[in-house]
Amino acid sequence: MERFYGNAQVQETLHQMLKRDRAAHGFLFYGEAGLGKKTLAKRFLAELLCTEAEKPCGVCKSCRMLADGVHPDVRFVEHSGKRGGFSVDTVREVCMDLASPPNEGDAKCYVFGECDHMDTRTQNLLLKAVEEPPTYGYFIFTATSPTALLPTVRSRIVSLAVSPVTEQECRTALEEHGVSPEDAAEAVGVFHGNIGQCLNFLENMPIREVAGLTKSAINSIINKNEYAFLQAVSQLGKERERTALFLSLFDRTIRDAMVWKYDPRAEGIGCDAPGARKLAERLSSSAGQAMHQAVDRTYAAMEANVNLPLALAAFCADCMDG
Ligand SMILES: [Zn+2]
Repeated sequence: MERFYGNAQVQETLHQMLKRDRAAHGFLFYGEAGLGKKTLAKRFLAELLCTEAEKPCGVCKSCRMLADGVHPDVRFVEHSGKRGGFSVDTVREVCMDLASPPNEGDAKCYVFGECDHMDTRTQNLLLKAVEEPPTYGYFIFTATSPTALLPTVRSRIVSLAVSPVTEQECRTALEEHGVSPEDAAEAVGVFHGNIGQCLNFLENMPIREVAGLTKSAINSIINKNEYAFLQAVSQLGKERERTALFLSLFDRTIRDAMVWKYDPRAEGIGCDAPGARKLAERLSSSAGQAMHQAVDRTYAAMEANVNLPLALAAFCADCMDG
């Protein structure tokens, strides 16, 4: 059984509901990518569907089928379309499927993951089913923001925020996944208490590389070296995904510097704590604010499909003028 770290209160809420046989029939688990919302959904379903006294036992037929992804009464609803929403046909099919009783136990569950691009039409189509599901029907939605779902849908379900774990918990979790203490420390230095993003960082060289470029850019601001800044940024190439990750890491690191000016003990969220400490001493608040705005302008330029190298050159000028 996959472990779910931290978030003790959320876990206890779900556990108590099930123990008293008063579980809600609809949930929204929300929080940024990598926090384990899907793992939490699986934990909940395991406890709901397990047939043994100590739930989830991990060994009964139901627990094993769920772990293997073949439980006939659990469906992780397929996404469709470019933006990763759900098609009307898929949702219609779910509504029809819900009408027939479960195959194994007394519950039938539908998990709609990553609902950030679920459109109004499909949500409205699903509304009735979520409002008045049969006694065996359960729905779990996950999204980065609670506002991904319409207020009408949200009012019928229980919304629970999933948070990052502490850095210590994250290091422990990574080491339990077979990560060396050195690698764990490096990943936590960039993605803090987000276990999924830390694992992604370690398994995915490009992310590690972009984190390195972000540190170079921060360093060149500290040294007022515009040429080095341009060099770092030019290594992003013309890839939007890499650039978006760079901008996000850069923005968080600048945010750390600005926060640490006033509260050196605040928790960091950026990828370069030593760099942000130095910036906190050297950078004025208005210069930090200007860089944050430069990040926003660059995101907007990317959305508007402006030529990427041009947008990054403007970004460089904005950051160095501060
Ligand atoms: Zn079981």
